[in-house]
Amino acid sequence: MLGPVLLAAARSDGIRRAVSAAPVTRSVVARFVAGEQLPDAVAASAGLAARGLGVTLDHLGEDVTDKAQAERSRDACLALVEALERAGLAGDAELSVKLSAFGQALPGGHDLAHRNVLPVVEAATAAGTTVTLDMEDHTTTDSTLAIHRDLLTRFPATGAVVQSYLFRTEEDCHALAAAGARVRLVKGAYREPAAVAYQDRRDVDRSYVRCLRILLAGEGYPMVGTHDPRLIAVTQALAARLGRARDAYEFQMLYGIREEEQRRLAADGHRMRVYVPYGTDWYGYFMRRLAERPANLAFFARSLATR
Ligand code: FAD
Repeated sequence: MLGPVLLAAARSDGIRRAVSAAPVTRSVVARFVAGEQLPDAVAASAGLAARGLGVTLDHLGEDVTDKAQAERSRDACLALVEALERAGLAGDAELSVKLSAFGQALPGGHDLAHRNVLPVVEAATAAGTTVTLDMEDHTTTDSTLAIHRDLLTRFPATGAVVQSYLFRTEEDCHALAAAGARVRLVKGAYREPAAVAYQDRRDVDRSYVRCLRILLAGEGYPMVGTHDPRLIAVTQALAARLGRARDAYEFQMLYGIREEEQRRLAADGHRMRVYVPYGTDWYGYFMRRLAERPANLAFFARSLATR
C-alpha cells in the first residue's frame, strides 16, 4: 500500500523540499547515492572497478522544467565522460541517462532531448565507453525507444531499458533482440495504470521471465537489472540452456543494494555492473528506492526518530 503513496510523493515539489531540507536525510541517502559531486562518483567507480565490478553512472536529475536546465544536464554528462577518461575508467564505467533530464517533457521535448543526448553519446563513444538510455514512465516509452533506434544507426553500442511491468514489453524485446542491441531488463519503478501495466508482482515477475527468454535467445547483449534472487537463478539456468556464454550477458544492480551478492556473482565469473547515482538532485531516485522496499522506509524512519 505504501509504494504508490511514496511514488506519488516522488513527484511532489512540496514534499521534495521538506525531505531534502531534513538534516538527517543526507546520511540516509548516502546509502543509495555515491555522493553529490563528480569526484565522489569517480572515486566510487574506481573502488568498484578495483573489485572487478563494472559501473554505469547516473548524474541524478529528471523532469527538468526549462531548456537551460536540460543543457546543464547535458554539460554535466560531458564533464563526467571527460573525468572518466582522465581517470582511466572509460573501459570500466559507462553512463546511464534519463531523457527527461535532457528536456523530453518540455514542448518540442522529443527533438530537444535528442539534440542534447547526441553530443553525450558522441563524446562517450570517442572516449571508448557507452551510454544507456534509462526508461521512465510509460508516457515516454515511444519517444525514448525512437531516440534509441536513431542513435543505434550511428552508435550501435547505445543501450536501451525495458520494464517487465508494461504489457508492451515482450513485443519491444523481440524488436530490440533482433536489432542486436544492448538491453537492460528491469521490473519497472514508476506508478503505472492498470490500462498499460501489470499490477500484481507475480505477473510482473512472469513477464520478466518471458522477456528474459526472448533477450537471451536473441542477438543482442542482455543486461539483467534485478536484485531478485529467483530471477538471478532463472537467468543463469536459461543462459546455460540457451548456450549463452558468461561474457555474452551481464547482471546489473543498484549502488548500495545487495553488495555481497554483487561481489559473489563477480567472484563466480559473472559480469556484474553497478548502477552508481551521484549529484544533488537525489530526491526522486531516493523515493523510488523507498517505494520498492518497506524495510528501507523503516530504516529511514528509525534514523529520523533517533535524532
Ligand atoms: P524486487 O522484487 O523489488 O526485489 C527483490 C529483492 O531485492 C528484495 O527482496 C530485496 O532483497 C532486494 N531489493 C530490491 N530493491 C531493494 C531496495 N530498494 N533496497 C534494498 N533491497 C532491495 N527502473 C526503471 O523503471 N527504469 C530504469 O531505467 C531502471 N534502471 C535500473 C537499473 C538497474 C541496474 C537496476 C538494478 C534497476 C533499475 N530500475 C529501473 C529499477 C527496477 O525497475 C526495480 O524497481 C528495482 O530493481 C527493484 O526490483 P528488483 O528486480 O530488484 O526486484
